Amino acid sequence: MNKPIYMDYAATTYTKPEVLEEMIPYFTEFYGNPSSVYSISRETKKALDKARMRVAKAINADPNEIYFTGGGSEADNWAIKGIAFAHQNKGNHIITTKIEHHAVLHACEYLEKHGFEVTYLDVDDEGVIRIEDLKNAIKENTILVTIMMANNEIGSIQAVKEIGEICRERKIFFHTDAVQAVGHIPVDVKEMNIDLLSLAAHKFYGPKGVGALYIKKGIKIHNLVHGGGQEKNRRAGTENVAGIVGLGKAIELAVDNMEEHNKTLTYLRDKLMNGLLEIPHTRLNGPKGEKRLPGNVNVCFRFIEGESVLLMLDAMGICASSGSACTSGSLDPSHVLLSIGLPHEIAHGSLRLSLGDGTTEEEVDYVLKTVPSIVQRLRDMSPLYDDFMNKGEN
Ligand SMILES: *Cc1c(COP(=O)(O)O)cnc(C)c1O
Repeated sequence: MNKPIYMDYAATTYTKPEVLEEMIPYFTEFYGNPSSVYSISRETKKALDKARMRVAKAINADPNEIYFTGGGSEADNWAIKGIAFAHQNKGNHIITTKIEHHAVLHACEYLEKHGFEVTYLDVDDEGVIRIEDLKNAIKENTILVTIMMANNEIGSIQAVKEIGEICRERKIFFHTDAVQAVGHIPVDVKEMNIDLLSLAAHKFYGPKGVGALYIKKGIKIHNLVHGGGQEKNRRAGTENVAGIVGLGKAIELAVDNMEEHNKTLTYLRDKLMNGLLEIPHTRLNGPKGEKRLPGNVNVCFRFIEGESVLLMLDAMGICASSGSACTSGSLDPSHVLLSIGLPHEIAHGSLRLSLGDGTTEEEVDYVLKTVPSIVQRLRDMSPLYDDFMNKGEN
């Protein structure tokens, strides 16, 4: 194997050459500060406007509702803390789910230490919230609902439009972390009744460290980053011009090619998923079909550790992940897998393979040839498996 087989697109993607090409002049030629008056700055200012238009178009927003950030985590933190602090006179209750990205969960935990009360909704065994649970959780003092559009670990897609409708009816702000959704599945902030939405370029073939928060016109929100007057006085700091240009180009490409790209991706995903599920004592995590992101595969192999599978896959030139990238290094199993009801020992044996633009059928076939023997080798060394085989325990 020379070139690695990359199956971790949900962690990050490569930057497309067309995207990089549009970015380069903004490092070398048009490097002027967009706030300055001379002509090289007029070019950078125009570039920001163009990128803002492209992002707005991709999610059916207005360009002046788009605010550039330093990525998905910043957008999530801004939305949640900014709404909480700006509206605490109306109430201090926030609703989210147990399967959010840590950028949302940890922002909510921070608010709990500062006088807010947070309800963490359960999900069903496929990783989808029950709409009834949301309705029941809403109280007089609820000011914000923050629920992710699509989950980064198990690919489950929430009924965002319905959630948005409920929030709109009750005049509660609705934020969605759409970092895994934008550029991958159709997103329309108007149709889906979304007030605030987070996105990040590096999840759809743009550069890392740049993202955006959509804030519906007229919404009062506190700043997260204080300083200069950039982004209409709402997000300080000299703009990451080249990054923003890359974001604009990447989102346009992703949305233009979505339908065709997803057909191929769904075919490859299902082939990989069904192949892996033929390995004995293997279960699928997350939903099947429509309610699942087109590029996401997540399975648990009983009796073994996901981390060991990853190391052996790496030795075979395959990049994958177990749990989420942010939790590797800790011994706790993924909070998402625990939330869908898996016991600790099974959640430990998880493997996420996320496919993307560069994935080929040959790669899927190679992975399907490689994984079963890795699983068997690890099971041969596993005392749990030994017990199971000897005693027929379950
Ligand atoms: C990657 C990701 C984030 C964080 O985005 P960064 O750009 O890495 O800060 C947040 N939410 C979800 C669902 C993600 O997948």
